[in-house]
Amino acid sequence: MSEIATRKRDVIDTRQSPLTDGFGRRISYLRLSITDRCDLRCTYCMPERMTFLPKREVLTLEELHDLATGFIARGVTKIRITGGEPLVRRDIVDLFTALGRRIGDGLDELTLTTNGTQLADHADALAKAGVRRVNVSLDTLDRDRFATLSRRDALPQVLDGIAAAKAAGLKVKINAVALKGINEDELPDLIAWAHGQGHDATLIEVMPLGDVEEERLDQYLPLDTVRARLEERWTLADVAASTGGPARYVDVAETEGRLGFITPHTHNFCDGCNRIRVTATGQLYPCLGGGERVDLRAALRSDSPQERLAAALDEAMAIKPERHNFRMDERGASPALARHMSMTGG
Ligand code: SAM
Ligand code: SF4
Repeated sequence: MSEIATRKRDVIDTRQSPLTDGFGRRISYLRLSITDRCDLRCTYCMPERMTFLPKREVLTLEELHDLATGFIARGVTKIRITGGEPLVRRDIVDLFTALGRRIGDGLDELTLTTNGTQLADHADALAKAGVRRVNVSLDTLDRDRFATLSRRDALPQVLDGIAAAKAAGLKVKINAVALKGINEDELPDLIAWAHGQGHDATLIEVMPLGDVEEERLDQYLPLDTVRARLEERWTLADVAASTGGPARYVDVAETEGRLGFITPHTHNFCDGCNRIRVTATGQLYPCLGGGERVDLRAALRSDSPQERLAAALDEAMAIKPERHNFRMDERGASPALARHMSMTGG
């Protein structure tokens, strides 16, 4: 671990200006995928026989650390570690520990998105590293359904992980993808459970990313429909404050909890976009819903990483599109982006 912390390669010129895209949006939030591998195989995310990247293509922990600190130097104040499943990567807590030292020194927040299977082993170390909040993906509380949906019988581990996170003092948010005919009947129970445990909850519409052996339109459940159904049973009060992210929030009077809706299809959330995504191979995607891409690994592994990375980040800012163009309607799902969500981490 100290290996990561003691490296001092300034790969990004700190005299460069903060990242701002061509539409004047300040980019302050990095989602950094640190592996494409995963111990689950959620049917909406990846096929059972997923082909993972050769290890040499994936950035080392040192490279990930260099990149992350470079982004902090360019004005990124929030980093979310994601994947694949971030907690399956060996020694990943070392990266959290090293980056955690930047909290209060350029970095406001370090978080992660996880499926929770390994959280029981890592919750204390994450809290110690400075992580305060985690997003845990959980689409069902039914063990059989979980096994069908994720193709692995891991619900008990996930629930243990969530309990361990809470015990370690981490604020937990439960993220659930709303899936037609799969978990739609269970969403109120899932939300009520999360709120009862003291966790916030967020629902997500399925997005057409990567080939998954299933028909996307069969899975797509518009959250407008879900919200209307929830309003028949509960009182939902819109929360005015925006987090700058894509979710819209309501407070649920009956459960006394907060519920978010991430609706890429039914509402556009691009105007206030402050984020970029970097894959485990160092590919920067300025938009989750677009094919634009800049290769940071080539820059990082070049003879002049500082200049090449500065140029690559400037290019990323120049090509970040104004808005995504996901579409899910009777004409089908598009764009048919070949990359899976496990590359960019959502
Ligand atoms: N493995 C971790 C997890 O599941 O939380 C982190 C990576 S996962 C790709 C991040 C989030 O993306 C999860 O909440 C998952 O449910 C969501 N996701 C995956 N594929 C998706 C898709 N096609 N549409 C919408 N959300 C998706
Ligand atoms: Fe793995 Fe997360 Fe994708 Fe499920 S959603 S297969 S847990 S990366």
